[in-house]
Amino acid sequence: MVDWDRQRSRLTDHLRKRVSDEAVLAAIASVPRHRFVPDDKRRDAYADRPLPIGAGQTISAPHMVAIMAELLDLSAGDRVLEIGTGCGYHAAVTAELVGPENVYSVEYHASLADEARKTLDATGYGDVSVRTGDGKEGWPEHAPYDRTYLTCAAPDFPAPLVDQTRDGGILLAPIGDGQQRLIRAEKRTDGTLDRTDHGGVRFVPLQ
Ligand code: SAH
Repeated sequence: MVDWDRQRSRLTDHLRKRVSDEAVLAAIASVPRHRFVPDDKRRDAYADRPLPIGAGQTISAPHMVAIMAELLDLSAGDRVLEIGTGCGYHAAVTAELVGPENVYSVEYHASLADEARKTLDATGYGDVSVRTGDGKEGWPEHAPYDRTYLTCAAPDFPAPLVDQTRDGGILLAPIGDGQQRLIRAEKRTDGTLDRTDHGGVRFVPLQ
């Protein structure tokens, strides 16, 4: 029998070197990452590295999920738009912080969206909303969002995502075609973005 809880608490301790937000660390300590990754990758579920999840896509390393959650400054009740559901793990971590009913996630590949929905249901995050579609269009029906983030790299923040984020809200994404930077942007009242650069990153590209 593998002691997943023990592995997860070791991972959480390891992340303390890079992340200080206790709510984020508690979220990482709560979400069973081993249930989101493919069966043959389970034994590596609590290693701090990316893992393949099928359809040529990867789940980000836990430290990247934690850093993104910290940069987004998430509070209970925030309405959040995620682009790139993948296996649903990152959405579950966000759900721990804002409440599952406040998380809206768009996934391009129907097979991944279906699988993510099943896993989220089975792990207690069934109130997260997942839609198959092109994330560049966002999810206008539930806008405005307090926070919007992409788990795939885009040349820049797609305009519909900026439109669907409220004034004073925060967007976060890997930006760039080859070399990517993690960019956090606060939306000003005139609609322009106040950007800060959080270093080089490597994500799969937006389709
Ligand atoms: N957050 C995910 C990581 C997913 S990797 C997790 O925790 O597993 C990035 C995801 O973005 C992939 O699943 C990919 O299919 C998706 N993606 C790529 N382009 C997209 C687009 N245009 N719209 C929505 N999702 C997209």
